[in-house]
Amino acid sequence: MSERIAVIGGGITGLFSAMYLAQAGFETSLFEKGELVSETSDRFHGMIHSGARYAVNDQVSAKECISENRILSKIASSFLDNSDGYFLAMTDQEAEFGDRLASGCRAAGIPCTEEDVGEFLSMEPHVSRDLKRVMKVPDRVVHAFDFAAAVAAEARMQGAAIATNTEVTRIIASENAVTGLELAASSAKSRENFDLVVNAAGPFTWNLLRESNIPSPEIMPSLGSMLVYDGRVTNSVLNRMRMPSDGDIIVPYGSSSILGTIATVVEDASNYTVDQEDIDSMQEEGNRMVPLLGKMPLKRVYSSVRPLVSDGSGDPRSASRSFDIFDHSRDGYSGLLTVTGGKYTTGRIIGQETARKVCEIFGTNFNPRNPELDTSFQRFRDSGMMLNKDIYDMAKSRSGTLDAERLIPGMALAVMASVGNWRSVK
Ligand SMILES: Cc1cc2nc3c(=O)[nH]c(=O)nc-3n(C[C@H](O)[C@H](O)[C@H](O)COP(=O)(O)OP(=O)(O)OC[C@H]3O[C@@H](n4cnc5c(N)ncnc54)[C@H](O)[C@@H]3O)c2cc1C
Repeated sequence: MSERIAVIGGGITGLFSAMYLAQAGFETSLFEKGELVSETSDRFHGMIHSGARYAVNDQVSAKECISENRILSKIASSFLDNSDGYFLAMTDQEAEFGDRLASGCRAAGIPCTEEDVGEFLSMEPHVSRDLKRVMKVPDRVVHAFDFAAAVAAEARMQGAAIATNTEVTRIIASENAVTGLELAASSAKSRENFDLVVNAAGPFTWNLLRESNIPSPEIMPSLGSMLVYDGRVTNSVLNRMRMPSDGDIIVPYGSSSILGTIATVVEDASNYTVDQEDIDSMQEEGNRMVPLLGKMPLKRVYSSVRPLVSDGSGDPRSASRSFDIFDHSRDGYSGLLTVTGGKYTTGRIIGQETARKVCEIFGTNFNPRNPELDTSFQRFRDSGMMLNKDIYDMAKSRSGTLDAERLIPGMALAVMASVGNWRSVK
């Protein structure tokens, strides 16, 4: 196929979109203004959701999550921990909510089992003795950076060009048809023609549309913050048994514990502040589930912005976590799709559906194949991919040692280091 497709944004959405577009046979180029996965896709909780969190108020997202959870458990198992997820009721009211949770999970096809409180407390001794009810769901922990690197590697193996440190400064439209992009790399500006542009700039999608004078779909940028504690207080992902709220998730990530989050609408994803009040209230909520957290050193706080699809309510908690592929030909601009919403968990299906939409536009068939995601040496060697040799050698030298697990992050780094900006890619 000769159509040239550009993808803006090297987060999980853009990477999977580029991978499936290249697989479908399009000449695909991805542009990322910084390093790959440097925004929301590497500043989140690190969970592959079971969907249970959304089962009561957002069945569409709940079903998408459990379906992707199953697919990723098959195609990306080396990036997922074996930890399960649990919903904990700390009050009688929350224990009553458990019935709604169970029926929401049933409706969405999410396995959800009632567990014995005493047995659970002996397995997770730092959980508060106030625990009233506990249910198990298949939430998983993902090694997000490594996983995204494997998707980037796969996209490149399928033939996509990936340019980092290359900012799209404008989407160029002529007589209401998008014709290309204005790019800035290493302080040099250039223009490139494309037959279609996929705007997957996450929470920055509408900044770019505004700069380009193109009408934007309604998006609700919603800020979240996570607190990182030095030490692992549980071996499972903990959720509070209630409607999604602040400070109600604890994720064991390596040797740390991550507590999140808040949801506050912000005007601009590149300019926000985190209130100490929000941090304090999250800590208070986290301590209710695991009192030990209150005694542990807080290592750091990080934040990012969700690119949510607006439901008109102005309330980020009620907005769906499903996704939307907005075809700007609805507003008279052909050749431009803007992808918003979704989760890290659903990045694969968003990318697949984006490629399907592009195939529909160009009238071609689409038979997607799920990739087997891994970063094994064999795979890189077979693909003939250029890797940063120093990092590759360093990672390889750990093979078969006590420290062999460092091999995968090492390979991930090698992939990330192997892409250049647009001028060097060309
Ligand atoms: C607090 C919080 C916790 C979350 N926890 C979870 C969780 O546990 N599990 C889960 O599944 N989901 C979670 N999510 C949601 C998930 O993180 C996001 O839905 C997902 O990462 C969005 O990916 P993206 O690729 O659309 O956006 P991003 O990852 O933000 O990627 C967009 C990319 O576009 C680039 N870009 C922007 N403008 C330009 C430009 N002009 N030119 C070139 N590049 C540009 C950016 O640099 C960025 O890398 C969480 C979100 C938040 C905020």
